[in-house]
Amino acid sequence: MASGALLKSSKLCLSWHAAKALASQSRGFTTKLTEQQQAIQELARKFSREHLKPNASKLDLQARFPFEQLKQLTSLGLMGATVDEAYGGLDLDYLSLTVAIEELSRGCASTGMIVSIHNFLYANLVNEKGTAAQKEKFLCNFTKGSIGCFALSEPDAGSDVANIRTIAKQDGDHWILSGKKSWVTSAIEGSATVVFATIDPALRHKGLACFLVPLDAEGVFRGKKEPLMGVRAATACDLTLDEVRVPKGYMVGEPGDGFRIAMEQLDQARIGIAAHAVGIAQSALDTAMEYAKERVAFGKNLTRLPSVKDRLSDMCILVETARLLTYRAATDVCTKNSAMAKYVAGRNAAAVADHCVQIMGGRGLSTNYSAERHYRDARGTQIYGGVTDIQKRLVGHYLLKEHDAL
Ligand SMILES: Cc1cc2nc3c(=O)[nH]c(=O)nc-3n(C[C@H](O)[C@H](O)[C@H](O)COP(=O)(O)OP(=O)(O)OC[C@H]3O[C@@H](n4cnc5c(N)ncnc54)[C@H](O)[C@@H]3O)c2cc1C
Repeated sequence: MASGALLKSSKLCLSWHAAKALASQSRGFTTKLTEQQQAIQELARKFSREHLKPNASKLDLQARFPFEQLKQLTSLGLMGATVDEAYGGLDLDYLSLTVAIEELSRGCASTGMIVSIHNFLYANLVNEKGTAAQKEKFLCNFTKGSIGCFALSEPDAGSDVANIRTIAKQDGDHWILSGKKSWVTSAIEGSATVVFATIDPALRHKGLACFLVPLDAEGVFRGKKEPLMGVRAATACDLTLDEVRVPKGYMVGEPGDGFRIAMEQLDQARIGIAAHAVGIAQSALDTAMEYAKERVAFGKNLTRLPSVKDRLSDMCILVETARLLTYRAATDVCTKNSAMAKYVAGRNAAAVADHCVQIMGGRGLSTNYSAERHYRDARGTQIYGGVTDIQKRLVGHYLLKEHDAL
């Protein structure tokens, strides 16, 4: 079925055109989703419940990439959710993609993360910043099943992006890229990646440029899959670039634009990781509630014990506050909003998953139950997409800037 056709023909989307027209009108932040956003939420929730949740534990324990599930998500259009229709996307708004990622992560954190990074860090970048020729080569197939990646981090440049050492040298009509990238999500399965390289390391962030690189290009070598503590069905690996020759036309923007492009894309990506964290937290709350309703201790259900009730209330508050900040960031994208959403959602997910383990007692530690997986999955949301410590500093920077107090 053509990309998005299933979604558009769904009973959930009877008033698709009307909802789309509504969504295109600019509106301030409101907690109410439009009809279109609710339809996407329902679609993702149903898919997650039926196809992700039942397989999440097995995929995690076997560290197996969710190929089949991604194929189905491609046919639903969710691997190009905000991409222009001309390139096979659904042309949705960021909040629709955000609620979809939340629902997918609720069923399987690894799948939610893969979808989040493919959309927010690869497809949206090419869609919004690429030339027509770049979109033809690096976008059309990427809404139809090919997976895209984002290679920014390096062994000595994680949070400190300006320290990137992958070098780009011009050679006539080509650029030659050499260096090593780290932690590239889905690079093992992916077909192309965005690569950030420096044209002059002495220029620090001002010397960065952004390139599109096919992963089967000569000189690209994938490293071994990283053994991960959480999101174990997702993959990340090193990429070695050994004199990789790419045409001039594969550079996005101009030399020196790389830092701005990376930061703008990370503003979006942090909303995706925040949504992923909210989905994990919601799943931990679902698990704890289900268990507490059944388990009897001291002659009553756990839900009747004041300490368990308090924990469930805390979990609910932590999930809801993170969700609100995340939805707000998706409707008003800026560094402060996305940093705040990621900061709160990552920390809250870890706290909610911790409560879930506690409520389940000994079973909370057993791999026969999902609590320990939520606990492991939640932790990474404070690291990838930018560490929590830096999100807080970004909020502080923009807060002081608003008050002319920098
Ligand atoms: C599963 C996974 C998937 C990933 N996927 C990708 C990907 O697809 N593409 C990609 O480019 N990268 C990816 N990353 C890399 C990720 O973005 C980095 O790990 C992250 O940005 C942190 O960089 P680092 O690991 O080098 O830690 P460092 O930068 O060395 O930071 C370590 C710690 O030092 C402290 N710290 C450092 N700098 C500051 C500061 N300025 N202020 C306050 N505290 C600070 C923080 O406590 C921080 O946690 C992935 C990582 C993981 C684990």
